[in-house]
Amino acid sequence: MKVEKEVLRKQIEKNLKVSFGKELKEAKEFEIYRALGQAVMENIADNWYNTGKLYEKQKQAFYLSAEFLMGRALGNNLINLGMLSEVKELFDELGIDYNKVEDAEEDSALGNGGLGRLAACFLDSLATLNLPGKGYGIRYRNGIFNQEFRDGYQIEKPETWLKYGDVWSVMRPDDEVIVTFGDGNVRAVPYDMPIIGYGTNNINTLRLWEAHSILDLDLEKFNQQDYLHATQQKTLSEDISRVLYPNDSTDEGKKLRLKQQYFFVSASLQDIVKRYKKVHGNDFDKFAEFTAIQLNDTHPVIAIPELMRIFIDIEGISWEKAWSIVEKTFAYTNHTILAEALEKWWVGLYEQVVPRVYQITQGIDNQLRELLEQKFPGDKVRQDRMRIINGNMIHMAWLAIYGSHKVNGVAALHTEILKNKELKDWYELYPERFLNKTNGITQRRWLLQSNPQLANLITELIGDTWITDLSELKKLEAYLDDEKVLKKILDVKHEKKVELAEFLKRTQGVEINPDSIFDIQIKRLHEYKRQLLNIFQIIGLYHKLKMNPNMNFTPVTYIFGAKAAPGYFVAKGIIRLINEVAQMINKDSDINSKLKVVFVENYRVSVAEKLFPAADISEQISTAGKEASGTGNMKFMLNGALTIGTMDGANVEIVEEAGKENNYIFGLTVKEVEEMRISGYDPHVPYNTVEGLKKVVDSLVDGTFSDLGNGVYGTIHRLLMENAPWQQADQYFVLEDYNDYKKTQQKINKEYTFRIDWARKQLKNIANAGKFSSDRTIKEYAEEIWNITPIKL
Ligand SMILES: *Cc1c(COP(=O)(O)O)cnc(C)c1O
Repeated sequence: MKVEKEVLRKQIEKNLKVSFGKELKEAKEFEIYRALGQAVMENIADNWYNTGKLYEKQKQAFYLSAEFLMGRALGNNLINLGMLSEVKELFDELGIDYNKVEDAEEDSALGNGGLGRLAACFLDSLATLNLPGKGYGIRYRNGIFNQEFRDGYQIEKPETWLKYGDVWSVMRPDDEVIVTFGDGNVRAVPYDMPIIGYGTNNINTLRLWEAHSILDLDLEKFNQQDYLHATQQKTLSEDISRVLYPNDSTDEGKKLRLKQQYFFVSASLQDIVKRYKKVHGNDFDKFAEFTAIQLNDTHPVIAIPELMRIFIDIEGISWEKAWSIVEKTFAYTNHTILAEALEKWWVGLYEQVVPRVYQITQGIDNQLRELLEQKFPGDKVRQDRMRIINGNMIHMAWLAIYGSHKVNGVAALHTEILKNKELKDWYELYPERFLNKTNGITQRRWLLQSNPQLANLITELIGDTWITDLSELKKLEAYLDDEKVLKKILDVKHEKKVELAEFLKRTQGVEINPDSIFDIQIKRLHEYKRQLLNIFQIIGLYHKLKMNPNMNFTPVTYIFGAKAAPGYFVAKGIIRLINEVAQMINKDSDINSKLKVVFVENYRVSVAEKLFPAADISEQISTAGKEASGTGNMKFMLNGALTIGTMDGANVEIVEEAGKENNYIFGLTVKEVEEMRISGYDPHVPYNTVEGLKKVVDSLVDGTFSDLGNGVYGTIHRLLMENAPWQQADQYFVLEDYNDYKKTQQKINKEYTFRIDWARKQLKNIANAGKFSSDRTIKEYAEEIWNITPIKL
C-alpha cells in the first residue's frame, strides 16, 4: 500500500492531537505508537470493508479457537502493507526512534503457547493467500499472566493489554448477540481486528467476543442504596471474558471455562448463521457448501450441539437434516494425546450451564449408540468406550469426531499415533475422516520481521519470492559449497547473538558471550518437554568442568524461556531448579567463562522474535510420542539453528527434510518407549550405571540446593526414582535418555568449532525449511478440508 510520507506525518499529527492533545514534539513513544496504529487503521479501512463484501458470497472457513497468541501487530502490519521502510524514513527525519515506538506496544497474548500461536500464524497465511477465512475467539481482558522471578520462584502478575484500550480493534455493536445460559443471558459484543495479508489488498478479520451484562446496573438495588449488589450481575457477566486460563495441555473442568467456551461458540455460530441468511435466506440446504468451521482442539466442540440447537429450535429444521448439515460443516483438529488434556465435562455441570444444549448432546449420544450397535453389534465394551456420555462424563473429543467430516493430527507421527492408538476405535469406524496436516509457521513474522539480516541475505541470493512461497528456499542449496555465503551466514548469526546479548543485558542485567554456543530451549514448562533433562545435563557438565578445568570445551550459554501453569507444582519446581543452577554456575568464577545459564523472564511472542534468530542449537527433547508437532522447532530451523532432538512430533519431518546428518537426533523412539514401558523400565539402572548421573540426581536432595529434598526437589526426586500406584517411576524417561543426550551434546560441542561445516549444516536446514510454512499447511486445509478457493480484492 502506497502512503505518502507527508500524508502519514499529517495523519500521525492529527491523531496525536485528537487522542492525546499533543504536538508531535511533546508525544511519548506510546502515544506515537497509538497515533501511527490509528493511521494504519484509517488507511486500510476501504480495503478491509471491501474484502468483507467480497467474501460474503464465497464459501468461507471459520477458525474457532479459544486462543489466539498474536503478539505485537505494528511491525507485522507495516511489513505486510509494505509501509515499514517509509515509516522508518519518516521517523528518521523526525528524530523518532522506531524501535522504541515498536517496543511501546504490548503483546496481544490471548493464548498459552503453540496452539494459540498456530492460530495466529494461520490467520496470517489465510489473508496472504487471499482465502476467505475468519477467526473467532474471546477478547480476554487479561491474557496469559506476566511472569516474574523472585528468589528463583515464578510469580504471576496480571496481564493488562487493554489497560488503555487497543488501537487494532474496532467494536461492531450492530453485530452484538445474546448468549443464553441456564442462569440467564449475556451480551456478546464483537471486536474486529484486521488481518493484513502480505503483498495483497485482502484484509481478513479476527472477531473476538467480549462479555457484557444485560443489565448494566440494577437500578432498583441502586435506589435502595445497595451499591455492591447493584453491580453484581454486571460483574458476573463480564467475568466470562475476563481471563485466559493459563493451562497449556491440561484441562481443569471448571464452570467458568465451560461458560467461556459456550459464550464464544454460541456468539460465533449466531453470527455465521446470520451472515449466511443475509445471502441465502432460509434455504439451509447449501449451508455446508458455503460454510466450513474448523474446531481448534476440543475447546470449541460444544459448537456441534449448539449449531444443532440453532437449526432445530430457531430455524425449524428437522433433526436428521440438521445433523447431516452439521457433519458436513465441522472439522476437528486434535492437538495432543496427553491424557490430562482430553476435555471431559461432568454431566451435572454441563446440564446446569447449558440445559438445552445438554438435551441435544444426549440426543447425539443416543444416535451414536444406535450406530455403534449397528457397526459393532454386541461389543458392549467397545460401545461403552466410544459413547459421548459415559458414566457421568461428557467426552468432548468423541463428540468432535462424531460430529465432523474430517479429523486431523498436526504432524505425520502424531496422526499415525492417533490412528493406531489413541483414536483407534474411531479410525476403524471412520477411516476416511482421518488425515494429517503438519503444522507450520508464517515466514513473514518468523524470518522477514524477526531476522531482517538473514532475510536480506536470502533475498540477495535467490530473490524475494520465498516471502510468499517458502519452498523457494531450496534454491539456497546452490550455495552449500560457497564459502563466502557460508561465512555470511555465520556473520548474520553472530550479529543476532550480539543483539540478544544486548537485550538480556538491558532487561535482566546478565552478561553472555556471543562467541559461546547459544543453546536455547523456549516453550511452555512441562514434564513431557523435559526441561529437566536439559538442566540435568548442565549440572553434569558443571561437575565435569570442576573436575577437569583444562578439558577441551567450547563455551556454551544455555538459555531457557518458559511459563509454568500457576497450579503446576512440579513445573514451578523445575523453574526454580533451573534458576538455582544458573545462580550457582554464573557466580562460579572457575566456570562462568565457559558455561552460563540464563532463564529469560516472561517468555512471549515479542521475546521469541529475539531468541529464535540468535540460536545455534534448538532444544526439542520431549519424550518420544508426547509432543504432537511443535512449531518452535520450525522457527529455529528457519533461522539456521541445528536441532538437538528426539524423534518426536514434527522433528521427524524436519530431519527428513534437512537430513539427520545435519541435526542431532538422540534418545528412545516411540517404539522403544513403548517396549520399555511394557518390559518394565527401572530408572535405577541408568542411575547406577551412567557416569555422573547419580551425582546429578542426588544433588536434588543432598543439600546442594535450597530445599534439602523436603520440598519440591524431593517431589521431583521421588517422581524420578519411585514407582507409585498411579504412575511409573520416571514416566518421561529422563534418566534413560540422559546418556545419549549428554554424548550428543559433546558431539555438538566439538562440531561447532568446524565453523564452515557448521554453516553448511545451517544452510542445509534453512534451505529445507520450506515445508514448514503455514502457507503450505493452510493450502492443505483449504483444499482437502474446507474446499475454499482464493479470491483477490
Ligand atoms: C512458537 C511458540 C510456542 C510453541 O513452542 P513449542 O516449542 O512448539 O512448544 C510457544 N510460545 C511462543 C511464544 C511461541 O512463539
